[in-house]
Amino acid sequence: HAKEEGRNTYRFFDERMNVGVAELLRMRNGLRNALDHDEFELHFQPQIDLASGRVIGAEALIRWNHPELGRVSPDRFIPVAEESGLIVPIGEWVLREACRRAAAWQKEGLAGVTVAVNLSALQFKRGNLKQTVTDALAEFGLDPTCLELELTESILIKDVEEVLATVFQLKSLGLKLAIDDFGTGYSSLSYLKRFKVDKLKIDKSFVRDLASDPDDAAIIRTIIQMAHSLNLRTIAEGVEDQEMLDRLRLFHCDEIQGYLIARPMPIDDFIAFVRAHSPSASDSASDRGTAI
Ligand code: C2E
Ligand code: MG
Ligand code: MG
Ligand code: MG
Repeated sequence: HAKEEGRNTYRFFDERMNVGVAELLRMRNGLRNALDHDEFELHFQPQIDLASGRVIGAEALIRWNHPELGRVSPDRFIPVAEESGLIVPIGEWVLREACRRAAAWQKEGLAGVTVAVNLSALQFKRGNLKQTVTDALAEFGLDPTCLELELTESILIKDVEEVLATVFQLKSLGLKLAIDDFGTGYSSLSYLKRFKVDKLKIDKSFVRDLASDPDDAAIIRTIIQMAHSLNLRTIAEGVEDQEMLDRLRLFHCDEIQGYLIARPMPIDDFIAFVRAHSPSASDSASDRGTAI
């Protein structure tokens, strides 16, 4: 077992990877071939607008089906892909595949349902991100307003001027920008304004203890108030039970995403999910239309 071989040997410098060297090498080699061998797949997790109860978007989350290792979690392989630079071609694949799928679901009646794509820092440094995004939108005829890019705070605080220039180019295409895992990094209010961010994704570590920890509740309430005063929308990730949802609603959170609603799922299941949770045309405007 790669995992056992690696346990007592050298550990890779980045502790967050928490991966033995044998497993690291195996993943790195595997990742090199994964695109050619068609081993990646995107799953989609619904995002619900709390005011209307409707599914208004989905986060695209990569899945890697390795022939021997089986399904490898992105928390394990994304850091390896970043460290080896492979995240650039993999990230391009994610962008194209997300645009392809979102363009297809627009045609299948899910009009206006957006797709959110996670970006890594290296995608900002290497490769022409603006061109990649422009090409992906054009190739599949996706309306830019249906694409949202998720960045982490760590991207924003390094090489600020460079990143700022790229962000402006991206925003000029008409797409939306969200800050992922918000609250775990060091970005300030002035950054959010400068970067013309549209949405804050409140990190699931705050959401998890929302009911039991008054500090986390206060942090979430403050993030939402601050976001609204800057005209930003808020989405809470990792919403797992009704109590969390009730509290988030009380705090005027705009959107939620989490296992309470649905797990990330293959494209066909996602489309079926949205259809099943859309209010029918005959429902009155005041009807929430779903059980959410
Ligand atoms: P993230 O972007 O913060 O994505 C949210 C993660 O939370 C996902 O994990 C999702 O499955 C999980 N999640 C959703 N609802 C719940 C819930 O109610 N409870 C709990 N405990 N978890 C929930 P996943 O799919 O394993 O992805 C992990 C991370 O890997 C992502 O965190 C993101 O940082 C990264 N990632 C995933 N796909 C991509 C990609 O295409 N590109 C890049 N660069 N990173 C990606
Ligand atoms: Mg994300
Ligand atoms: Mg997140
Ligand atoms: Mg994350």
